[in-house]
Formats: sequence, structure tokens, C-alpha cells
Amino acid sequence: MSKIVDVKFSLKTYEYFKPFHITGSVSSESRNVEVELVLESGVRGFGEASPSFRVNGERVESILALEHFVREMLLGQDVKNYRRIFDMTDRLFAFPSLKAALQFAVLDALAEEVGLEVCHLLGGAKEEIETDKTVGIDTIENRVEEAIGIFREGFRVIKIKVGENLREDIEAMAEIYRVTKGAEYIVDANMGYTPKEAVEFARKVYQMGIDVAVYEQPVRREDIEGLKYVRFHSPFPVAADESARTKYDVMRLVKEEAVDYVNIKLMKSGISDALAIVEIAKSGGLKLMIGCMGESSLGINQSVHFALGTGAFEFHDLDSHLMMKEGSFRGKFVQDGPKMRVRSR
Ligand code: MN
Repeated sequence: MSKIVDVKFSLKTYEYFKPFHITGSVSSESRNVEVELVLESGVRGFGEASPSFRVNGERVESILALEHFVREMLLGQDVKNYRRIFDMTDRLFAFPSLKAALQFAVLDALAEEVGLEVCHLLGGAKEEIETDKTVGIDTIENRVEEAIGIFREGFRVIKIKVGENLREDIEAMAEIYRVTKGAEYIVDANMGYTPKEAVEFARKVYQMGIDVAVYEQPVRREDIEGLKYVRFHSPFPVAADESARTKYDVMRLVKEEAVDYVNIKLMKSGISDALAIVEIAKSGGLKLMIGCMGESSLGINQSVHFALGTGAFEFHDLDSHLMMKEGSFRGKFVQDGPKMRVRSR
């Protein structure tokens, strides 16, 4: 009864409350592809692909064009044998967000079929996680105002986007720190700095008495030497995001001792590579955070269950759904301010 009898794709557009500005990119909306699997039993599983052209070279148009091909590939497959389906969908390496949506939809359908939550299929390591919320690039005044709002909403980890203007970034950090004492900070340059600028930013911020918990992707993705340079010349732990898309990328980062952290995103790796990265990180002494692209609550649900199931993450940056207008909440979890919990059945 757990064989796949239909696969459907649909395009969904979500508008951000405020245009989201990071180094080199401003988005006013997120365009995602929703995946629905139907089993023989009538049970349905859902997934969401939120493609990033900037990071993965993917577009919704290219994903939608694969609907027929994917249906042919998956019809008749049994979700009980989900590792077989993971191996088949691993070949979609040029479409990692689609791979994520399909792999999650398979787990979602299986979980519904057997009456469990996906986080329990993945290990059930945690009952609850806590997300940060992000301050995009803006005028210093607006960044400070946004940070105050986030802090007042109860978020204790604030993510701050930097990377377009070193001087303003340092000033913004000082001003945000002044009004959000007690918060932890994740700083993300999205590849915007040179290695030297990245070290200058970290040293100036450190001299002001500010601690940064994770310093994400200070330099461009190909510059593994640069990441390592920043890691050994700045006082904060350095994370790879754009530099770490597949398990092979993470193997290399471990070998080169280039980073302290990896930011896993299901949209870059799918469930299969994300599971592998968790094990590589454990073996290689790396710490992990989990992030997102432009997922709605349906897509964030995937990362919440992955994080609850594996329990592998020090930090959770799962806030895209909190930044967009959505008709209804579709996560199979409970959102309580920054806290995300297992739903009780
Ligand atoms: Mn990032």
C-alpha cells in the first residue's frame, strides 16, 4: 500500500514582508515548487523546493520542466525502501532543491503511512529547537530598528547580514550590540569580503567587546584558502555555507581544516547528503548549523524535522517562513516564538 501512484508539482509564489537584501542580491518574493506524492493507500506526502539561482544555479522553470521525468522515475517505487529512492534522486545533483523536496516527500508519506513524525524516522534526538531571526542589509538606522524588533519578539540569536560595506557593517554591529545586550550573533557576509577585509571586520568587532558565535562565509565560495586564513586570523568560529553544498565539499573542508562550522541547508544537499554531512562533521570535528533559502512553512517543516530527528545542530537559522506572507501555516510542528517543537499526535 506504500507504493507511489502519482507525483505532482505546483508553482507557489510568496511575497516577503520587506525586500530581503543580502550581499549582491535583493528579493521581494520567493518562488517555490511544491511536490506532492500520492501512495496506493491514498496517503499523501509533501515537500517543497526553494531553488537558489545564486547558490545552486537552479530556477523554478528548470524544476517544473522535470515533472514528467520525475513521475516516470518514481511511479511504482515503495516509500518503505526510501534509501533506494534516495539513491535514484541523488542523480538530480544539478537540482538539489528538487532532490530535497522529493526525498522529504517520501519520508513524509512514509511517516503518515506508519503514524509517526518524520523526526522520529530520522532518530528523534530532540523535542525542541530554537531558531534565530535575520537582519538584512539596510541603512544602519533600519538595521538597528529591525534588530530591536527581533530581540523584543523573544529571539535570543540574531543573524546579521554584512558584506557590502565594511565600514557601515562595523558601525551597524556596534549599534545593534548596544541595544540587544544578551543576544548571540551569527554574522553572515555571503562571500562579500576579501580575506583581509574579513579579518579586519572580525578584529574591529572583537575590540568593541562583541562576541560573534558564528562568522558565516566571509569570502567567496571557491576560496578555501581564504576561509582558512580567516579562521586562523580572526577570533570567531568560521562557517562555510556557499562553499559547502555536497558531502564532497565538506570532506574537502575537513581535510583543509578550513572551517569550524558547516551550515547545512537541505536546499543545497537534499536529505541524503545532509545525513552524510552530519556523519562527516561528527568524524571530522566540525560543528553544524542548519539554514534555509526561501522556504515557506511547508519547506521549513523539512529542516525542522531533520534538525529534531538528528539533533546535530548548535544553531538553527530557520526563519524564511517568518519573513513572508503565507495564507496558512503548513508545518507539521509547533512554532512558539523562536521555539519549534514536535507536534503531538
Ligand atoms: Mn549563509
